[in-house]
Amino acid sequence: MKKTLYGVFPLCAAAALLLTGCGQETLSSETRANLLGTVITVSTYETISAEDYRAVFDVVADIDKRMSANSTDSELAAVNASSGIAPIAVSDDLYGLIQEACDFAAYSGGAFDPTVGAVLALWKQDGEFAVRPTDAEIEEKRALVNYRNVIFEDGTIFLPKAGMRLDLGGIAKGYACDQALACLQERGITSALLDFGGNIYAAGTRPNGDPWRIGVTVPLAGESGQSVCALNVRDCSVVTSGGYQRYFTEDDTTYHHIIDPQTGYPAESGLLSVTILNQSSTQADALSTACFVLGLEDGMQLLESIEGSEGIFITADYTIYATSGLTGALTVTDDRFTLADESTK
Ligand code: AMP
Ligand code: MG
Repeated sequence: MKKTLYGVFPLCAAAALLLTGCGQETLSSETRANLLGTVITVSTYETISAEDYRAVFDVVADIDKRMSANSTDSELAAVNASSGIAPIAVSDDLYGLIQEACDFAAYSGGAFDPTVGAVLALWKQDGEFAVRPTDAEIEEKRALVNYRNVIFEDGTIFLPKAGMRLDLGGIAKGYACDQALACLQERGITSALLDFGGNIYAAGTRPNGDPWRIGVTVPLAGESGQSVCALNVRDCSVVTSGGYQRYFTEDDTTYHHIIDPQTGYPAESGLLSVTILNQSSTQADALSTACFVLGLEDGMQLLESIEGSEGIFITADYTIYATSGLTGALTVTDDRFTLADESTK
């Protein structure tokens, strides 16, 4: 047996889409675009001041500025630029997040690997997934991917091989979400819904004590905005990774943004999306990327071994599989999709 199921309420209805509640309360929201490569929305039922909003968005902007793999002047970029040359001193939280990312790389057998950056850079143009590299380029950069090679020492990070690159795109949104929530809580705001482009944090409850109702986005390209299933949560992060979120098409082939570090190509694990529930958005973020690479069976096994995590896997044949702790908690809201029954898990 495992896990404390944290704040998930059976038969009420969680992942990447807020479903507006039926109560009388008014939800007020503020949005900022172009942070962490996405749109960030903070919503609360209680009135919060412009200063509170600014403080939260400042926290996120600061993380974005320091931890972006795409910009050339972030702390992370300095570490990458010094690969094979010298260790670079980084701020405590970046040091800790890189350690945590490498821990998740180990837990997931390398399915999640923050050193996949060298390969990712081949697929990106101006920070977007847009280019199909040659097989030879992928082969060459793949040799630079291995989280075990990152050297941590006295607040410095060293990537010992020239050309190694860290990319925290699979975990930084979750980290930023946790930090934004901490900022709100320091200001006395305990009930809020944070939406960081698919990374949700449902903090506290709605004013009447009801949980937040969250929908999992239909995991099909071009169909965003609708939910495939829903559940009720409180004090829980709900994070989705899916091939439909960022992709490009070339010569009739679609390439998405989640790379299998073993091959250097977009993961082909038979999944459309994976949604993870965890009290830590950082963990949920790393796990959702890891599970998307691992696929249904190995992903389920990983989740069952980690305390406090639940997951919803949607396979290419439109079947929804949930971890044991979510039994009875999901309502399917799109009849093209079917909930796997217990016996088929
Ligand atoms: P997510 O949307 O959280 O699943 O993260 C996807 C992002 O993480 C990509 O846009 C890349 O920046 C990065 N990424 C892609 N593949 C991996 C991987 N196997 N391990 C770690 N990060 C990855
Ligand atoms: Mg992730």
